[in-house]
Amino acid sequence: MSVAVVLRYRKAVTYGHHALLGALEAEPPQTPFTVAFATSPEATAAEITAGLRTADRVLVLWSFYSPDAAALAVELATIRALVDDARVLHVAGGVHATAEPQQVLDAGWDVAAIGEGETTVIRLLDAVGTDAPLTGVRGLAVRDADGVAVRTGPAITRELDAFGSFSLRYSKFGPIELTRGCIYACRFCQTPFMFSARFRHRSVENVRWHVKAMVDAGMKDVRFTTPTSLSYGTQTEEPDLDAVEELLGTVRAELPPHGRVFFGSFPSEVRPEHVTPDAMRMLRKYVSNDNIIIGAQSGSDRMLAASRRGHGAEPVLDAVRIAAEAGFRPNVDFLFGMPGEDAADAEASLRLAEAVADLGGRVHAHTFMPLPGTPWRDAEPAFVAAETITTFDRLAARGALYGHWRRQAEHAERLAEAAKAYPRRAPRRRTTPTWRDAGGGEGI
Ligand code: SF4
Repeated sequence: MSVAVVLRYRKAVTYGHHALLGALEAEPPQTPFTVAFATSPEATAAEITAGLRTADRVLVLWSFYSPDAAALAVELATIRALVDDARVLHVAGGVHATAEPQQVLDAGWDVAAIGEGETTVIRLLDAVGTDAPLTGVRGLAVRDADGVAVRTGPAITRELDAFGSFSLRYSKFGPIELTRGCIYACRFCQTPFMFSARFRHRSVENVRWHVKAMVDAGMKDVRFTTPTSLSYGTQTEEPDLDAVEELLGTVRAELPPHGRVFFGSFPSEVRPEHVTPDAMRMLRKYVSNDNIIIGAQSGSDRMLAASRRGHGAEPVLDAVRIAAEAGFRPNVDFLFGMPGEDAADAEASLRLAEAVADLGGRVHAHTFMPLPGTPWRDAEPAFVAAETITTFDRLAARGALYGHWRRQAEHAERLAEAAKAYPRRAPRRRTTPTWRDAGGGEGI
């Protein structure tokens, strides 16, 4: 049987889809398949309809973050109203589906993909293409007869070098994923939960392959995704600057003279204690970014300890000074409203934010969200006081503060409501789910 794969292709989540395409290109399934990119609900419905004309089955692959889950459930219902067919399987992937499979199944998706999707998508295509039960595909959750999410076992994880970060076949490029997983355990963060509490680094040679492919395709800018840029090559909290330099030197060597390397800036960041004069001098030799993003989160030592950040407030200011002296504009991430944050903690953060601004840096303000999968999923966000917001507005007026903190406060309320509706419980594992359990119809 053939399968038409429709990617619900949203700007916010292209990296995840590109990684799946990279996997399908590196180790193609036996099942013949096509790929379509759908950038709106209407386009998704149209691609599903087209897929039903040319293939035996249609797999619609979704990926989303927790704050977007509710809006995308509405979108899914819209698409189903336009085209609903038993040969179509809507698969939710990404961090929210991993953390809350029951929520996404109840919201209307047929299958939740749990954890890393590369191997899962290859096996899922072959299971669907051979009409095999989904029980053989690890890394999924499907409904049982009672509607309860049952898991098919942990997803198979591989070294990052096994698959490309992006798709050559469809010319879908993007940042190169340098490192997956994180040894730190910040209580608000989904990364260690979604992947693992250790670093898995892409090798320098594999990064070189990516850069060469990008240059061959006419690109000149290289960016990376990594939880903490200066942790490249290490398995400890101590950076390995030689490993970082080898990486950046290799990337530079592959780029044309007008090529640019962005490291420690969007879409990645550095930890404050890793910002040393040596590290900044080394970066200056290779990188093209004029700014560096530093994860601070709070100016309160008490809140930094409570959130298990693994550093205090003082290293943040040191990092800002060192980065600025090296010629980088520091953009510093702050997270307001963490559980247990009181007026003194908020005041300490605002003082640090103002000091950052006075040193020429910018504050990237976030509001705490109780994200699924994190230790703080069920924690009550602290109240963000009017005085804090007044200071935000004053800093923003100086051009020293930016961010989506207002929208995140709204997301936080929705996530807290969803968490209450879905109390934590142990996952159920079963070995009998089939395509039909997952929403397939008669005869499938
Ligand atoms: S916030 Fe950054 S350093 Fe902390 S666990 Fe997440 S990815 Fe790691």
